[in-house]
Amino acid sequence: MPGDKLTEDVIGDRFGVSRTIVRTVLARLYAEGLVDMQPNKGATIAQPSLSEAQDVFETRMCLERQVIARLAEKVTEDDMESLQRHVELETKANIHDGSAAIRLAGEFHILLASLSGNKVLARYVDEVVSRSSLILALYSRPHSSDCSINEHQQIIDALRQGDGQAAIDAMDHHLKAVADRALLSSTSDKHRDIRSILDRYAS
Ligand SMILES: [Zn+2]
Repeated sequence: MPGDKLTEDVIGDRFGVSRTIVRTVLARLYAEGLVDMQPNKGATIAQPSLSEAQDVFETRMCLERQVIARLAEKVTEDDMESLQRHVELETKANIHDGSAAIRLAGEFHILLASLSGNKVLARYVDEVVSRSSLILALYSRPHSSDCSINEHQQIIDALRQGDGQAAIDAMDHHLKAVADRALLSSTSDKHRDIRSILDRYAS
């Protein structure tokens, strides 16, 4: 969970690696915005603020729109098959294994980005998807998975029909819905308190 301590000794011990390696990895995760580091406190899992969370989702929308625009021009039958297989895995996991379902949902987006053929784009999507998972862990309603499998299917269907604009619209709609489910949609909500959170559960 965001805020949890990442003790170098414990991590090194569990993975059977030196503290130097653990430190290098933590520094990389810090650079990617996934870990916080403070001089005398050591590393903790990052706790993105609400405004940072909104920035991540805004960036994610720009990047993934471009992923879909590129894919719409070059998607192959093999690509379509691996996307379809992935959504089937998500459907199975959704029934049996909640944590696998959340991981697979993120990996669907990473798969799309890697199929786009643009490695720079894929790298940034990978980062914002990981940061989104942290944000969802922090702000999401309990028991909501971050991605709806139906929405993933709609994106694939539009790509299969060769309708680039419909695919981009489906991705836009999907990411807005994810942000919405994560309670990030109300931008005026600068001073969140428990009442405003409970109000939305009640509605
Ligand atoms: Zn998704």
